[in-house]
Amino acid sequence: MVTAQPGVPRIGVLALQGGVREHIDALAALQALPVPIRRPADLVGPDGVRVDGLVLPGGESSVLDRLARIFELTNPLREVIAQGLPTLGTCAGLILLAREIENPAPGQTSLGVLDVTVDRNAFGSQVHSEVADVDTVWGPVRAAFIRAPRIVRVGEGVREAARHRGQVVAVEQGNVIGIAFHPELTGDTTVHRRLLQLVSAPSCDEGPAARQ
Ligand code: GLN
Repeated sequence: MVTAQPGVPRIGVLALQGGVREHIDALAALQALPVPIRRPADLVGPDGVRVDGLVLPGGESSVLDRLARIFELTNPLREVIAQGLPTLGTCAGLILLAREIENPAPGQTSLGVLDVTVDRNAFGSQVHSEVADVDTVWGPVRAAFIRAPRIVRVGEGVREAARHRGQVVAVEQGNVIGIAFHPELTGDTTVHRRLLQLVSAPSCDEGPAARQ
C-alpha cells in the first residue's frame, strides 16, 4: 500500500516487464514516491489520475505493448499522457510512446503520443551495447545503449534533446520525454530530475495535451 505524503510527487512506473527496479531506485533517490503500475486502477481511480508523473521503462517494446493490451492499460496510458501527465519513456518505453515504429515486431502497436518515428534496434544487437557520455539539453548523461532505437523523424513541436553517433537519441514534446538509452542503469539521474521538473512546473511547449 502506497500512502500519500504532502509535497512528495507520486511517479508511476509501468511494471509489466523490463528495467522497473532501477527506475524505482532512481526516483526514490530523488525523494519521489515510485508507484508500480500493473493495472488500470493503479493509474486512474474514482478521483482521477493517481500519479503526478509516469515512467515507461526499457525492456522489449513488443512485449510491453502486448502486456499493456492484455492488462487493458493501453487506453488509460494513452489518455493520461495525452491529457498532459509528465512522462518519461526510456528505450522500449520510447518505442511505446512513438507515433510510428520502423521495423516493428509482427502486430506491434504503440501509444502514438510522441510525434516521432523510431527505428527499432537501430544501434545493433545486444553485443553492440555500450556505455557512453551523451550531451543532452538537460546536461551530460552517462547512458547505456542496449539494442537501442534511433529517432529517424522528429515532428513539429518536438524538441531534439541529444544526439549520439550522429543520430537523435533524446527528445522532449511538452509533457513527454523520450530517450533511446538507459540512464537508470548507470545511476545517472539527470533525466529523472528533468521529469520531476516537469511535474512541479509543467512545460509551456506544445505537447500532446496542448493539441487536444
Ligand atoms: N530493442 C528493444 C525493443 O524493441 C528495446 C531495448 C531496450 O529497451 N533496451 O523494445
